[in-house]
Amino acid sequence: MKSVSENLFIDGWTLSKTIVDEQEMLAFGHSVARVLVPRLVITLSGDLGVGKTTLARGVIQGLGFSGIVKSPTYAMLEPYHLDSGAVYHFDLYRMSDPEELEFLGYRDCLRDAYLCLVEWPERSAGYLRNIDLELLIKSDGVARIVTGRAHTLAGKITNEHLQHI
Ligand code: ADP
Ligand code: MG
Repeated sequence: MKSVSENLFIDGWTLSKTIVDEQEMLAFGHSVARVLVPRLVITLSGDLGVGKTTLARGVIQGLGFSGIVKSPTYAMLEPYHLDSGAVYHFDLYRMSDPEELEFLGYRDCLRDAYLCLVEWPERSAGYLRNIDLELLIKSDGVARIVTGRAHTLAGKITNEHLQHI
């Protein structure tokens, strides 16, 4: 399996957005839903409570899901079957062994996913494959700064769209 650092293509951190509050983070998620290239794997990094799940919620709701988007902290995976296709929301925070990715069915998810969102990709110790776009959220007091870098052409196209919203 390839780790992030083994990917052939790594773009710079070309996306940088300041998000002032939760509503804006949800709106940013809606924008991600609008511009994303299908079959993308997006990782969401940053400290506990920084807004990864809020961003994922915005994306999933932006794709048309009208229910409650729960944090997958305990189950580690919440699947959504939407009109656009299957969306898999992972949270690997509690993962103790990267092999658990196999038990979660990550490989199968990749096969049919319209979108995979992965919180705490660091816990997979490089076992995640096919990452298209890395989003990193940092807190600047109240505001959040979202930066993004692409690992594939599909990720780069999405990242470039996001810079211009
Ligand atoms: P994580 O998944 O990274 O642990 P959550 O999305 O679950 O974080 O929680 C983020 C918390 O921070 C929420 O309670 C949200 O209301 C709050 N918050 C405050 N400002 C922002 C912001 N600019 N963007 C996102 N969330 C924010
Ligand atoms: Mg979370």
